[in-house]
This record gives sequence, structure tokens and C-alpha cells, in this order.
Amino acid sequence: MPELPEVETTVRGLERVLQGRRISRVEARRADLRRSFPKDLGQRLTGATVTGLGRRAKYGLIHTDRDDTMIFHLGMSGSWRIDHASLEKHDHLLLETEDGKRLALNDPRRFGSVDLVATDELEDWPAFKALGPEPFELDVRDLQKRLRGRTAAIKLLLGDQRIVAGLGNIYVCEALYRAGIHPKRPSGSVSLERLKRLVVAIHDVLNEAIEAGGSTLKDFISPDGELGYFSKNFSVYDREGEPCACGGTVKRIVQGGRSTFYCARCQH
Ligand SMILES: [Zn+2]
Repeated sequence: MPELPEVETTVRGLERVLQGRRISRVEARRADLRRSFPKDLGQRLTGATVTGLGRRAKYGLIHTDRDDTMIFHLGMSGSWRIDHASLEKHDHLLLETEDGKRLALNDPRRFGSVDLVATDELEDWPAFKALGPEPFELDVRDLQKRLRGRTAAIKLLLGDQRIVAGLGNIYVCEALYRAGIHPKRPSGSVSLERLKRLVVAIHDVLNEAIEAGGSTLKDFISPDGELGYFSKNFSVYDREGEPCACGGTVKRIVQGGRSTFYCARCQH
């Protein structure tokens, strides 16, 4: 499942072929993914020039000179393919640029989505309205304020989109491990010093993954190139029963219906 680093890598890859380019053709090859494509998608994008790309939480943003923003979500299995030799069954949306690039949004399981919103209304778009700050814009004092008095486990609140936007289960586990914070610790009891370490850890785990993704970008414009998926190494995530670097053993518990991986020796 694409997490924030995959979406960031995808956006950076798309930027290389879309930034400043005019979209010459749009083809929706079915009516919907998780929900319907906007009815006027083709009409509003065809002939528009891409003025910039971005990311909010796990959504990719493509801004145009018509003051529209196309918002895409990769769902469970989505990816963009660039200049593929031939169409595949799950290429559901095609974009072509005036300079001859062909992009396909491929999504076998169709949990992804595509929306088109006026750029100046993005902040009020329902899925964005309630989002907390981006992980890279986290302010430690602000985080402390929002966790103050909260008894819910730190693992659960870090995964809450209203506290931090787009930080998935994997990166919550990894960041807590690096910061030495036990996933069950009541959120309001984490000291400012430890929250500072946590914010640094969040930045580090995301940046390392984005860098790993970036190194795969150099050859993404190749026949059947698929953007954004890459292998990563985790210290605790999905490593139940395996040794931690400290000599302890990685444990798995379930919190809020999702697996948490941690080391009881390193995390308090
Ligand atoms: Zn350990």
C-alpha cells in the first residue's frame, strides 16, 4: 500500500514530465475508481498547462493554469506509469502532454480516487479540512499542546490524521522505536524532550524512505516504468520475533485494530 514516501516519490516523478507542460488529451477508460471521476475532468484538463505539483497527506496534487487542482489518491494499489509501451487492463485514466508523454493511472484494486477542485478552495475540500499539519511542518510545542491531557496511547494519536497528516502505521512504529517511546505510553505523559526526539525521528524515517524512493527515479522513464514503489528496510515494522539491534526481540501487539511493532527493551 502506498504510504507518504511513495506518494512523495510519485509526485516528484510526475513533476519531471508534467511541470510546465500542456495536457493535450485526457481519457477516462472507465467511469470510476473508489468513486466516480469528475464528469468534466476531460473538459477542464484538456488544453490546461500544469503550473505545479504537490502533496497533502497521502494525496498527490496537480495544479493547472485554469486554477484547478487535480487530486489523486493511490488507494491500496495505484501507481502512475509513464510512456508505457502498451496499455494495461488496469490503466483507468490516461493523460497525454503536448510534448508526447503518455501517463496512465493504473489501479487494479480501484481503491484510489481522482477529484478536481478549484485551487483556492483546496483547504476547504472535505478530506483536507480536518487534517492536522504535514509531518515535515510539525512544531513540537504545537504537538505538545495537542497531546496535553490526552490519555490515549501515543501510537494511536500519531496515527490520527487530525494530529499529524499522512503518517501511516509503518512510520508511526518506526519513529516511536527511534525515539525510544513505548507505543502504549499515554500521549499526554511524553515529555517535551522526548517529543523533540520524536519529531526528529519522524523526519528521519520519512526522509530516508523518500531518499530510497528518489534513487529509483533515475530510471523510471523507461518502457512500462512504474512510479513510486520501492523496497525499504525497517527496524521493527513487520519484524515480529526477530532480534532488535539491542539484543531484545521485536514484539507485536494490536492497537486500534492495527499491528504495532516495538522493542520493549528500547522503548519506555
Ligand atoms: Zn531493542
